[in-house]
Amino acid sequence: MVDGFYAGVVIDRSSSALDRVFHYEVPDEFKDRVKLGMRVLVPFGQSMVQGYIISLDEATDIPEHKLKAIKKLMDPYPLISEKFIPLIMWVKKEYHCPLIEAIHCFVPPGIRVNIKEKKQKVAYLSPEYAEKAETAGKLSANMKAILQALEQEDGLPVKELLINTGASQSSINSLVSKGLITVETEETYRNPWQYEIDATQPPVYNDEQNKAISLICSMMSKGGGTVLLHGVTGSGKTEVYMKTSAEALAMDKQVIVLVPEISLTPQTVGRFKSRFGDRVAVLHSRLSIGERYDEWRRIYNNKVDIVVGARSAIFAPLNRLGLVIIDESHEDSYKSEKRPRYHAREIAQMRCRLENAVLVLGSATPSLEDYHKARQGEYHLVEMKHRVDKQILPEVKIIDMRQELAKGNRNIFSLSLYSALKKTLESQEQAILLMNRRGYAQFVSCRSCGEAIKCDKCDITLTYHKRGNKLVCHYCGLEREYPKVCPNCKSSYIKHFGLGTQRVEEELLKLFPSVRLLRMDLDTTSRKGAHHDIIEAFGSGRYDILIGTQMVAKGLDFPNVTLVGVIAADTALSLPDYRSSEKTFQLITQVAGRAGRGSKPGLVLVQTYQPDHYSIRLASKHDYKEFYNREIEVRRQFIYPPYSHIIRVLISAADEKGLINYANDMLEWTRGYINRDPVLRKGLVDIGAYPAPIERINNKYRWHIIIKIDTSEETISGYHRLAETLTERFRSEDFSTALDFNPLSLL
Ligand code: ADP
Ligand code: ZN
Ligand code: ZN
Repeated sequence: MVDGFYAGVVIDRSSSALDRVFHYEVPDEFKDRVKLGMRVLVPFGQSMVQGYIISLDEATDIPEHKLKAIKKLMDPYPLISEKFIPLIMWVKKEYHCPLIEAIHCFVPPGIRVNIKEKKQKVAYLSPEYAEKAETAGKLSANMKAILQALEQEDGLPVKELLINTGASQSSINSLVSKGLITVETEETYRNPWQYEIDATQPPVYNDEQNKAISLICSMMSKGGGTVLLHGVTGSGKTEVYMKTSAEALAMDKQVIVLVPEISLTPQTVGRFKSRFGDRVAVLHSRLSIGERYDEWRRIYNNKVDIVVGARSAIFAPLNRLGLVIIDESHEDSYKSEKRPRYHAREIAQMRCRLENAVLVLGSATPSLEDYHKARQGEYHLVEMKHRVDKQILPEVKIIDMRQELAKGNRNIFSLSLYSALKKTLESQEQAILLMNRRGYAQFVSCRSCGEAIKCDKCDITLTYHKRGNKLVCHYCGLEREYPKVCPNCKSSYIKHFGLGTQRVEEELLKLFPSVRLLRMDLDTTSRKGAHHDIIEAFGSGRYDILIGTQMVAKGLDFPNVTLVGVIAADTALSLPDYRSSEKTFQLITQVAGRAGRGSKPGLVLVQTYQPDHYSIRLASKHDYKEFYNREIEVRRQFIYPPYSHIIRVLISAADEKGLINYANDMLEWTRGYINRDPVLRKGLVDIGAYPAPIERINNKYRWHIIIKIDTSEETISGYHRLAETLTERFRSEDFSTALDFNPLSLL
């Protein structure tokens, strides 16, 4: 033991062997400046590496001759505020990731590629300007122009001044030497929001809105809790978010607003900007790294009160958090698919608890899990059942595609959709067509009876595998031959499906050669700003029909859209996923909300081979509650979430044989562990090891172990014990292991 000042440092290398806290001595020269959360340079092995200080201690176990000293403090201030350290520790424990990966969530984007702060020169009238102007003598016309500009607006960038007045740098210099102006070097922030925005005023709130607002505000003054705001599309939820944000600001608190994917919800961001101006920062992945870094610094430097952003904005370094809003809280994009595999709602809940803030989950179609919690009294439930403008929700008609086939129509458009499109084009209105092709999975279904082929044990659609021409269950591993006839009706019209947006575009052009089409999917929106351009082009009326994937279902508001068509509602329904009914219900409800937003009524046509499926039928009636009642029964019966938790341990490696052995070893070990742990043995629902549905990615083979457990608190803490031991035990350079609690996908 040696006395002194020791810093616990986490090395900035993603290696499981380095996943611990190393003690370093703090040299005297740093002792008065060192702070928790600082980035430091330290000797490690033969080299110098970066790391983060997460503890400062009086003592260390390291013998003196082995102890090394911090070489350098990398920044004048801590990159991570001290109060986030407990949250970082929680992230590590909860998601079983290396500490450094938890830390990376909190540090500014771009810091690891050494992004530079931007500086600029700004001119001000000097404090003695009034006196000096009397005695300054004769000034050139350019100098006078500069002074005039500064008299109108004090504090202008020199660059801008020179361009606007036509003066040269020498005029600036002589004004400085005469003591009339001063020039300061200041940080500038790249502005990611280049679109013009008009300021807006809040409306007069209706009763439903007032109820929601006063509940959220009273919870804020009490300092915590979670609200589920269930409001139909157009019920005025965004106005509730803005009003409660304004109230938070009035209490001297700050706000984080999460949106699923900023480029998909530009209108929401714009509305916050127009209400709160420069006090809003925007954070999302489509910004350049420099823009993100600058927005982060604006937040860190206390220049903003509201952060609007995608998933990772939940880590924004605000100091006085009072309110977190998660808009469209049912969306999958809130879950990270990379380590740490967190869900933004879970982080938000923990952060709100630590900082006494209120969490609001807003959705027209809440996730089953959230609605279940609200029913159980874990969340406060607030409902907004009516559209603001008393507009009725659009009429939704289900079109039975089996009958189209019987009528001899093999086209991807039903006759009703065809004639509705024709009418829309003739009356110069607009239409949106949804073709939800998602993921890699293809399923096999019968075109006569509509049945998709399912696993007997899991009630999950089987997935077609080209390799071996077979059908596989992604949950239990069951394999089946490709059937020659439908097991349900014996028809031989049985086929695997893989229909995409491009095909819809081609077919549409065959029917309406002069139609002006716009397509919005991953292929057409990869360029930065492409999404915004497509929305603007469609909104301007230069196009008749917008075809797209689920991107078109979200948040768009076009008054001239009177027709929405869903080409194949079954695509989502047949995904190998216990949430496929829920996803289908959400998608149809969301896309239906795009029709009839203006003065003309809207029509929604949903094409399906399974017109009687409850998710389609109830979505067409806008009946969330009945859908919830039906779906929660299915979940109870098959023990799916919220009645269980699903844990996936994904293992991948280049060597297939080795991987299979490794997976089986892990399965055996895990079974043994569970058997020896009475809590887990009792809480276990199911366990097995299977090849992952996508068997190889980037030449790495993939297997997974799927564990289902019950939802009691003890079982969950049992799981954390298991996960910790498992990640320790199965550390390997050759086999990578990823743990996912309630994964979005088992592909
Ligand atoms: P949601 O977020 O639930 O879809 P919005 O907040 O976007 O609903 O509201 C839908 C439309 O109604 C918007 O154009 C919004 O400006 C308007 N609106 C919301 N609340 C009111 C109100 N109390 N009075 C008038 N218009 C409102
Ligand atoms: Zn059939
Ligand atoms: Zn199965």
